[in-house]
Amino acid sequence: MTTTGAETGLPSASLATAPVAPVVPARGARRMLGLGEVTITGGFWADRQRVNGEHTLSHIGDWLEREGWIANFDLAAAGGLPQGRRGREFSDSEVYKYLEAVAWEVGRLDASDPARAAELEQRADAVVARVAAAQQADGYLNTMFGREGQAPRWSQLEWGHELYCLGHLFQSAVAWQRVRPTSHKEIVEIARRSADLVLEAFGEAGIQSVCGHAEIEVGLAELGRALGRPEYVAQALLFVERRGHGVLADIEWGRSYYQDDIPVREAVVLRGHAVRANYLAAGAVDVAVDTSDEDLLTALVSQWERTAERRTYVTGGQGSHHQDEAFGEDWELPSDRAYSETCAGIASIMFSERLLLQDSGENVARYGDLVERTLYNVVATSPQADGRAFFYSNTLHQRVPGAVSDPDVVSPRARSALRAPWFEVSCCPPNVARTFASLAAYIATADASGVQVLQYAPARIATELSPGRAVELTVETEYPARGVIRVRVDAAPSGPVTLSLRVPAWAAGASVRTITGDETPSQSRAVETGMVSVTREFAVGDVVELTLPIVPRFTAPDPRVDAIRGTVVVQRGPEVFALESVDLDGTALEGADFADLFVDTSVALREVGSGVTAGVTAAVRRRGTSEVADVPLVPYHSWANRGPSSMRVWIPSS
Ligand SMILES: [Zn+2]
Repeated sequence: MTTTGAETGLPSASLATAPVAPVVPARGARRMLGLGEVTITGGFWADRQRVNGEHTLSHIGDWLEREGWIANFDLAAAGGLPQGRRGREFSDSEVYKYLEAVAWEVGRLDASDPARAAELEQRADAVVARVAAAQQADGYLNTMFGREGQAPRWSQLEWGHELYCLGHLFQSAVAWQRVRPTSHKEIVEIARRSADLVLEAFGEAGIQSVCGHAEIEVGLAELGRALGRPEYVAQALLFVERRGHGVLADIEWGRSYYQDDIPVREAVVLRGHAVRANYLAAGAVDVAVDTSDEDLLTALVSQWERTAERRTYVTGGQGSHHQDEAFGEDWELPSDRAYSETCAGIASIMFSERLLLQDSGENVARYGDLVERTLYNVVATSPQADGRAFFYSNTLHQRVPGAVSDPDVVSPRARSALRAPWFEVSCCPPNVARTFASLAAYIATADASGVQVLQYAPARIATELSPGRAVELTVETEYPARGVIRVRVDAAPSGPVTLSLRVPAWAAGASVRTITGDETPSQSRAVETGMVSVTREFAVGDVVELTLPIVPRFTAPDPRVDAIRGTVVVQRGPEVFALESVDLDGTALEGADFADLFVDTSVALREVGSGVTAGVTAAVRRRGTSEVADVPLVPYHSWANRGPSSMRVWIPSS
């Protein structure tokens, strides 16, 4: 597959009018529509955005205070370090990710709830002022290094996370710059000064090494785009090119842990720590795009292909090693050892989305499919329904019911039996928060010819394809409970416009039709999976209606995944379902050993009711007996919301 590098046909957006989106490449086949252009108006994702905004952000802010991770900046400013510093070496980054989440939330609420947006902005400004006070005269900013009694700056690149923290600072600054392009936010100036110092310290003539945890690459590249500073992108490229040559020390898990074993452009698959690998890949796409490096981009596309095929769980989760939070070998995807860190899922979405923006067209739907699978089955799984507890790792098989987490106590990071309010390593909660707050940017893209709707939610879309060519659309759908997606045209320019919709790979039998004011509806026509397009001169009120077959289905695993041979998974639309032990209560199988159960695939799955939180029952039998029961399965993202239970995604089959 090659990429065209085709221009969007759009006027190169001035920095003040760039889309309010996390990724705005210098060129591309299509561009993300930002928060000012897309509003999610209801349904599955709007519910999560609301809980995120009303509960999760304040929950995170409270824990950052309570654990002293914001106060570390106060101590730094007052000369109180290193005594009194609390949290791990990377705790600064959680403050930056929280600030990024608040920025996107402000952008999301600007039009609908300006009072709340202003309140959040004020709260963020107060935190930023505390961060600012800790920045040293030459731009250095980190609460863990560089003072008397602390290790010197840049002296522990393997584990110190200094550049990693700055990467998150830069992404946060990008969010504020795009949400408030004319306000001269203080965080943007903090980031600029830090970035200038990084260039001085790690430039061509500087320290010839990289950070053990990739992230600075993606942060620097986007900051360069947001501020019109191509030298930041060039520095990101330097970091990408340096890694893989053994510039970091060897460690017990090998240099593959931090992707320092093979240069990025020579690697054939993602390996090592799954979050690091995906952040690096996302940053490498950014620099490949902005420097027109087609070879690097092609290498990344093939790494994505193999990783998606062979190193990704059915949920979209990645990482099957607990000890180093890492990818296993090809096909090494055991359910009960799934690490599938929430952050790895988010990082994978970052990588996929960047490739989606560059693809000539052929693979757009595949990238969109993995983004969707991961959003529904990893990102949506992490937070508890109330938005105040999270999964860090996301197992696909819980053998023994876990213990309830104390809502007042910090958990070790990797407990996956039940969600916990906060972790010693708490990367995942603010990562979920920033993703939900910016989710509108993942709904649709545009190019000069039209709009591509990639993720389905009730939404309003309003953009310009080129100056004066405004398009406004309303998306109506009950997805993922129902498969009908209606895209109504509220405004369209004269001349032909192309509306494209993603038909997921699972949606064999999908159909599309157009309904126009002056004609009877066109005949539904069957469409292949991939992208389906309708090109015409649209009038106000015209509708393009896509129907996806949302019916529960059994899927058998690839036999090369040894650990799940003889099992099946139930899916409906984009959602993966799970068998949870609490659902045996009141059936003939109440109290049965969970390990003895199997699903009878000769009995059709049934849909019950209209809800999206239950909705599918399967015939479950107990091995060695004739007991059988109709047991409801729950969407995997909603498991463990009813107390301790056993759970499995891949179920032994008859
Ligand atoms: Zn995490």
